[in-house]
Amino acid sequence: APGRRFRLTVRPLSPSLTFVRLTDQTAVRAAEQMRVDFVANASHELRTPLATITGYAETLAEDGELPPELRRRFGQAIHDEARRMLRIVSDLMSLSRIEADRFVAPQEEVDPAELARLAADHVRPLEEQRGCTVHMTLAEPLPAITGDFAQLLQLLDNLLSNALRYGCPGPGCEVALTLRAEGDQLLIEVADQGEGMAARHLPRLTERFYRVDESRSRDAGGTGLGLAIVKHIVERHRGTLEIASAPGRGSRFSVRLPLAAVTKA
Ligand code: ADP
Repeated sequence: APGRRFRLTVRPLSPSLTFVRLTDQTAVRAAEQMRVDFVANASHELRTPLATITGYAETLAEDGELPPELRRRFGQAIHDEARRMLRIVSDLMSLSRIEADRFVAPQEEVDPAELARLAADHVRPLEEQRGCTVHMTLAEPLPAITGDFAQLLQLLDNLLSNALRYGCPGPGCEVALTLRAEGDQLLIEVADQGEGMAARHLPRLTERFYRVDESRSRDAGGTGLGLAIVKHIVERHRGTLEIASAPGRGSRFSVRLPLAAVTKA
């Protein structure tokens, strides 16, 4: 197939015998490339706010005559950029913690209704800020799942925050959070009435630092890591993530997780 990479090893063993090995290096190369890209992207993401901080801090240190109003503005800018770096570093740490736990099956018995209510509480300040409401539907019965409560809370928090940030074009909008049992799975769905996204973005959304609209993500305080974290949490819980979206028609993120009865069987 085009684009595949192979390594050919040829070693003469004796005058009449030659060892030949052909190994497919495509996956190894792809993983290496991902690592290289990740380090480059992470460095770039941290360097940008750091450059701004350095610039403002230098001016503050060197210009003793700076009017108080400018001093205040520069101080605020330094504070904002430092907080931005803190968010990036915290998200990177979350991501590496989840990755490290990849092969450790989560053990806690999690009540989906409790999880949903807590997640809705978490995003209340954002809800108020955006003038939008999270409308929660918990379809009975909602059997327990086996999971990592803190990680699942983070998953819901990330999906709801995104819906409120990018999926609420104006006050009065609604974000629908639905939980229901579907066969031997728990379905968690977050749907918004926002602008939606073009199909070409969807397969790339869970890549680290991928954003549809860079400046909007930045203004909203995004790190570009939220959906990468969601994907890793879903994988650790042996679940699936499905993203449906179209321009002008909102977005829907559906997570399916095995019910506790299944994981214990
Ligand atoms: P960010 O920190 O930028 O929010 P995410 O990984 O959470 O990073 O999301 C990646 C990008 O996907 C966002 O920057 C945004 O462009 C887009 N996105 C995520 N959720 C939605 C949504 N509900 N509606 C529209 N766009 C979204």
